[in-house]
Amino acid sequence: MHDGCLCRKGLAVDHSKAMSNSPDHPKSSLSARDLAVVWHPCTQMHDHETIPMLAIERAEGAWLQASDGRRYLDAVSSWWTNVFGHRHPRIVAGLKDQLDRLDHIMLAGMTHEPAVALAEQLIRLAPPGLSRVFYADNGSSAIEVALKMSFHYWRNLGRRQRTRFIALTGSYHGETIGALSVTDVPLYRNTYAPLLFEPLLAPSPDAYLRASGETSSQHVARTLGKMRDLLAKHAQEVAAVIVEPLVQCAGGMRMHDAAYLAGLRRLCDEFDVHLIADEIAVGFGRTGTLFACEQAAITPDFLCLSKGLTGGTLPLSAVLTTSAIHAAFYAEYSSGKAFLHSHSYTGNALACRAALETIAIFNDEPVLVANRTLSTHLAARLEALRDHPHVSDVRQTGMIAAVEMVRNRATREEFPANERRALRVYLHGLTRGVILRPLGNVIYFMPPYCVTIDEIDLMVDVAIEGIERAVA
Ligand SMILES: *Cc1c(COP(=O)(O)O)cnc(C)c1O
Repeated sequence: MHDGCLCRKGLAVDHSKAMSNSPDHPKSSLSARDLAVVWHPCTQMHDHETIPMLAIERAEGAWLQASDGRRYLDAVSSWWTNVFGHRHPRIVAGLKDQLDRLDHIMLAGMTHEPAVALAEQLIRLAPPGLSRVFYADNGSSAIEVALKMSFHYWRNLGRRQRTRFIALTGSYHGETIGALSVTDVPLYRNTYAPLLFEPLLAPSPDAYLRASGETSSQHVARTLGKMRDLLAKHAQEVAAVIVEPLVQCAGGMRMHDAAYLAGLRRLCDEFDVHLIADEIAVGFGRTGTLFACEQAAITPDFLCLSKGLTGGTLPLSAVLTTSAIHAAFYAEYSSGKAFLHSHSYTGNALACRAALETIAIFNDEPVLVANRTLSTHLAARLEALRDHPHVSDVRQTGMIAAVEMVRNRATREEFPANERRALRVYLHGLTRGVILRPLGNVIYFMPPYCVTIDEIDLMVDVAIEGIERAVA
């Protein structure tokens, strides 16, 4: 999931160099035992004949400690899940307390304090107008819920022809069959394409794709124009438009102007289709505001949350929606209008408690204000790369920053994927104790908010060194 550098086939690195700094792996080591039995996500397992498998024993704050004693800065927040650092004392204490009360029960026919309190808190914090919370247990499942709920809403209204979805080019919404169907990243999608449904694709407002001389507002207007054309032609068969607000993360940390979201909301209203905001990656402060939608002052019809929701401790997701949508399902049993979707671990009490503690930290500490200092420093440090001959773009939205590594800066010609240049950045990071996991040839930073100025310096220094090695 989320990154191309380690999962593309056709390894083209110099193995002897790659391994020269990595620890040995005796047969009894955790790494060796792992490689005998575990099948890892988003991984060509063969790669681990040469790439070290890190055996992590402990984690604290922004740091991971391996069984060989080496420490690694978690510059990617453990696949974007971790928010305040690992084992935040408040979340740990909350979880211990919760374990002594209630672990897990099914959420059908019964409820518990953490599920109710979390729903109340999410409704309080989310953009105005969202008043119902449906739980699931991971990001992809939240997307499945939103897609099914939107489709089912129209069906309950007798609009059975509304069976299609509009997604943006470069979008990523997860890797289960439905979520992958509305994903437009070839690496994840192409192999499974015969199993998937086809969304209508609208061009992404990705600022990197601006035509030369085109201003941001012209680009937003142009891409909204294409969206309008698509809606004008297909609205009668469309249930919803799905979007990753402000940053298309797995698609390469591609960023767009908030004005696009405001325009998209207006178009969805005009053509009477739902807007699904997938804030699974960007929620919980990553973009500078608690939710990215706030920057466009919009309320989506569905808001999907996961990853940072529990601070990065336990799997949980939530789909927030409006009372109007909930009302379309609320009827006598015999009407057959009930929403049908369930996961065994829906609304897990421990996960909900972790989420409550996460929200409590946002409430009690000036997290977003403090992050501004960090993101300003990160931006200043990345300036050094702006004129680099192998960097075509340096971009940032809040606590997410990315560097586009190319063969030719002027033409934006990319390095061939099978040269796996970014893998060299990753491997260099390991030798320097920083976890950087590039997406294709995009080197990005998404650190937990407990990161210090010195740690940001380390992260950027190591990335710059890595880029020098990768382009050589
Ligand atoms: C990670 C991600 C998902 C999928 O979440 P999982 O928990 O990995 O299934 C969906 N959408 C976006 C935008 C994501 O970044």
